[in-house]
Amino acid sequence: MSDLPPVEDHLTVLNPATEAVLATVPATTPAQLDAAVARAAKAQQGWAALAPGDRARLLRRFADAVDAHTAELAALEVAEAGHTVGNAQWEVGNVRDLLEYAAAGIERLTGRQIPVAGGLDVTFHEPLGVVGVIAPWNFPMPIAAWGLAPALAAGNAVLLKPAETTPLTALKLAELALAAGLPEGLFQVLPGYGQVTGRALVDHPGVRKIVFTGSTPVGKEIMARCATQLKRVTLELGGKSPNIVFADADLARAAAAAPMSFLDNAGQDCCARTRILVQREVYDDFLALVAPAIEAVRVGDPSDPATEMGPLISARQLERVTGYLTPELPVAARGTAPTGPGFWCPPTLLAPEDPDCRAATEEIFGPVAVVLPFTDEADALRLANATRYGLSGSIWTRDLGRALRMARGVESGNLSVNSHSSVRYWTPFGGFGESGLGRELGPDALAHFTETKNVFISTEE
Ligand code: NAD
Repeated sequence: MSDLPPVEDHLTVLNPATEAVLATVPATTPAQLDAAVARAAKAQQGWAALAPGDRARLLRRFADAVDAHTAELAALEVAEAGHTVGNAQWEVGNVRDLLEYAAAGIERLTGRQIPVAGGLDVTFHEPLGVVGVIAPWNFPMPIAAWGLAPALAAGNAVLLKPAETTPLTALKLAELALAAGLPEGLFQVLPGYGQVTGRALVDHPGVRKIVFTGSTPVGKEIMARCATQLKRVTLELGGKSPNIVFADADLARAAAAAPMSFLDNAGQDCCARTRILVQREVYDDFLALVAPAIEAVRVGDPSDPATEMGPLISARQLERVTGYLTPELPVAARGTAPTGPGFWCPPTLLAPEDPDCRAATEEIFGPVAVVLPFTDEADALRLANATRYGLSGSIWTRDLGRALRMARGVESGNLSVNSHSSVRYWTPFGGFGESGLGRELGPDALAHFTETKNVFISTEE
């Protein structure tokens, strides 16, 4: 991307709520990365050879260590990512749960026995080797764990490159893994710049798969670079998800849930419902309910348990987001935000006349949504699918048939009816179109970090 942060030999980690410097962290050079890949490859061999039950036990110990450090990890997440303290605590629990869920899959990673003549045919799930996880700054801990937990469980080593702005929780997780007894070198964190450390990880021939979460342009670049080595790749990219409200819905519930469906994590969420589509006959009633709810959202110090929304991650992100708030766009609701130091943007609902304007079509990744009217089911579906993205979405209606028709019609990987839930570690997650490639989480998570091997054993004499 054109507005990349300048590359130095270290990262400067800021508190986005105050702009105070929290830490400086050395950036990993390509030579250091080389050495890390060699250490990981060595550790992976021993790890894959362990009895399944022993690997599971070590991952459960890692989960226990994460749980025991909830307060410390959550405080780091609040400080470096500006997450509200309630969200940060939930995120630590999510990492623990992901590790436990993955650990429980190790003894269940069974192959198949397939009928053949003259022998026995069986399949094995072989680990890939060394896996690279490139994480973003919006959910630094959970998204790192989406990759690292199933990858480790399936017998791989993991090299994690956290985002430039949020390396501290990742470094703490690696420390806890080691203390819990995971072999040295098996899970390493390589802080650094995307265009240096990230690229070197993608290009390294010793890394067999890249799991990337971030922007669509970088995802496309990574896929192209992986293609040169036929390297496996999973991409979780952007979104511009619809929140479709029909006239027959419980309007009060839909309006009460709408604000946090795009304001959670200050809108820096790939599943944010940022296109609110409302059936025309209830459009005014919906706005009358949702506007005061948006204005009432408590924005401020993320370490205060009463706060509902914190700051944006960086000055760069604030500039990007405010670039969409052009004066000609009608504002349907606007909340408040602190002034002074910190990267603050008030919750904003826009009501553009043109459904094709930039604010209505591009991923803003901030506390901004648009509201647009629609006439009937067909019109709702047309509007919902008028995007290059397809990550999530919500459908509000009391008509079960309509809910199912819409859920089957919206071209998106994760839909919810009469709710805004998207991500559960035990259900599959991923996008259609330019929202990504492949799936993470769910019952098949471990298999995505393996190659299937078929073996035929002759029983002929
Ligand atoms: P980004 O895609 O540049 O960064 C994500 C991660 O990729 C970071 O760890 C970064 O260091 C790394 N990276 C960057 N360039 C790389 C390269 N060439 N090779 C390998 N790794 C590389 O995202 P950003 O610039 O921080 O954010 C920009 C926009 O991306 C946001 O405004 C938002 O729209 C989107 N985004 C989406 C998600 C998501 O969850 N899908 C997460 C973060 C950002």
